[in-house]
Amino acid sequence: MRPEVLFPLFKSIDTLKGIGPRLAVLIAKLAGEHVNDVLFHLPSGMVERKEITELDERYITQQVIVPVMVLKHFPSRNRRVPYRITCEVGSKELTLTFFNGREEYLKGQLPVGQSRTLAGKLEQYSGEYQMTHPDHILKTGEKIDIPKFEAVYPLSAGVTNKTMSKAVTQAFLSLPELSEWLDEALIKRENWQTWMACMRKVHKPEGADELEPDTPARLRLAYDELLSNQLALELVRQNMRGKKGRSFIGGGDAQSSIEAALPYKLTNAQNSALSEVCADMESNSRMLRLIQGDVGSGKTAVALMALAKCIGCGAQGAFMAPTEILARQHLQSIKPFTDAAGLKIALLTGRLKGKKRSALLEELQAGDIDILIGTHALFQDDVMFHDLGLAIIDEQHRFGVRQRLSLSAKGRPDKGGVDVLVMTATPIPRTLTLTAYGDMDVSVIAEKPPGRQPIETRAIEIERLDQVAASLDRKLAANERVYWVCPLVEESEVSDLAAAEDRYTYLNALYPNQVGLVHGKMKSDEKDAAMEAFKAGDTQILVATTVIEVGVDVPEATVMIIEHSERFGLAQLHQLRGRVGRGALAGSCLLMYAGPLGETQKARLKIMRETEDGFRIAEEDLRLRGAGELLGTRQSGLPEFKIADLQVHSRLLQIARDDARHFLEIDPELASERGRAIRTLLYLFERESAIRYLQSG
Ligand code: ADP
Ligand code: MG
Repeated sequence: MRPEVLFPLFKSIDTLKGIGPRLAVLIAKLAGEHVNDVLFHLPSGMVERKEITELDERYITQQVIVPVMVLKHFPSRNRRVPYRITCEVGSKELTLTFFNGREEYLKGQLPVGQSRTLAGKLEQYSGEYQMTHPDHILKTGEKIDIPKFEAVYPLSAGVTNKTMSKAVTQAFLSLPELSEWLDEALIKRENWQTWMACMRKVHKPEGADELEPDTPARLRLAYDELLSNQLALELVRQNMRGKKGRSFIGGGDAQSSIEAALPYKLTNAQNSALSEVCADMESNSRMLRLIQGDVGSGKTAVALMALAKCIGCGAQGAFMAPTEILARQHLQSIKPFTDAAGLKIALLTGRLKGKKRSALLEELQAGDIDILIGTHALFQDDVMFHDLGLAIIDEQHRFGVRQRLSLSAKGRPDKGGVDVLVMTATPIPRTLTLTAYGDMDVSVIAEKPPGRQPIETRAIEIERLDQVAASLDRKLAANERVYWVCPLVEESEVSDLAAAEDRYTYLNALYPNQVGLVHGKMKSDEKDAAMEAFKAGDTQILVATTVIEVGVDVPEATVMIIEHSERFGLAQLHQLRGRVGRGALAGSCLLMYAGPLGETQKARLKIMRETEDGFRIAEEDLRLRGAGELLGTRQSGLPEFKIADLQVHSRLLQIARDDARHFLEIDPELASERGRAIRTLLYLFERESAIRYLQSG
């Protein structure tokens, strides 16, 4: 249950004075629907006002506070002509203009012959001093409490800065005093104030430098958020570890027969990842391990060896891929080895229906299937194993924490549940690994199998497209394959996007019957058919949107052409490039771009030409784009932060990580005074789902 002190913060924003239902909807879209969302909507700028008593050219375009005497109203009868009011400042005249101004209201606010104090931007319009829609109008004599500094919030249509300020001011009225959840020593060392004081400070900047993300107040608020993230992950992790897992001792024979069947020796990097995995499997706590390895680093073989161990110990394994194509591909690449080792392997995808499906499920439940490969279909409730011991999840970033947990629920609690091994080909900078996968142990395969040839990468202007297309004939004559990637086909997108369909038509005219097309709008069996035709060599050029991004293996593919490469993120370009040069032949990658390029775009293409190191590319990507965009947050399962910015606050993330671990070691049930305050912190950042692990632990 959410602590009572937080109730006011989780009220809906229309409970704030002055925020009606219509505004509430608009603000909710911008900031969120609760009072605390408004507080977390931090200013991105500010205005500084100058108090003046006379008009002067040098104040033009500045924000000023100025006393005036109202002279005359000029109401407007025409919507396009503003309502004007002339005023006197010393010996000079100031004209106020209001678009759609209501006469009655303005006459009340600014009665002729009276003095007022105004705040607004001083402008000059055809030689006259002018102010449009003053931000503040005060009766003279009223205490002048027009702020000299005023926060400017990120805004959207229908939500003015005045509205946001009002909402924030109101939200502050319901701000409760919260017990301190941070460690005293840390607060001292960093020179931080209380949460409440920091909140007030960030909303009342008194200079442009106070808007920087590294002011003490912003640092503290970011730290709070990062700490809540790390605490939540650590709670999940503790819960997994605390659970008695299964100890897989043995399985060496099955591993040996697989190893004997492999046409290569495992690299050192593969072996060391494998021994970390095996150690986890042998220990009697549950495994939750992430293997990070660049495209082509050979993660599948490691997974296969882990599966062999599990099956050798008498249990079953599951191998989950994000798409049908990939599930099928895993089956194809693994089956020769499992056959050789006498292991029974089967495929379950959404396409399997009726009798065939129920027959397979029966076999699975009887324990006649050793390894089940599949897509999300594996999550379905009626998929029951005889004894699931190990789940491999490939290309993690499409699955969330919840799904990870639901898979592990398919194991037998009496035997100690399911060990989980997650594999991702998306190199993730260390900072992000912590925020997204802090609950997992991580192994990295940093070395690629020997004999890979470097991929020659070039950036080419789009004007040379015809030339590029014509040059492909040599590749086709040598029976090589070419990927041609276009940005997504989306009707709503700008029309100059090179639509994959247009490109298909164009290339097909040059190379009749040798071109295939695959895009996101196709049905999955159409996609598969197009991929299969390309793999088989029936088509040699595959025009594609980014659906080919993940994991597809076509050894004959040697050329990757990416149109409008300037629109892709680095991680995506890297993934795409990883599709070629997988076999014996050298690969090349042509990054076509439409100039002129911005600085960031130039930097991206440059890095692509310089390196094939996925981790370096990922770090650069983070630097150039920021974490949110890095993997496409929605798809990536990465947490979105309200305040923390990983580019700036990664130092804090490390501290938060250690803080969380250390604290939960001494107070795993959050029972101490700081522990109770930490519960409040978790609720404040809506990470309370982690709290239930306390009870169930
Ligand atoms: P990824 O890590 O991208 O999933 P894969 O597991 O698909 O990589 O392996 C990429 C290719 O490298 C496959 O064709 C696989 O057969 C090959 N491979 C894997 N391990 C080795 C190795 N130790 N030596 C040589 N080739 C290997
Ligand atoms: Mg793979």
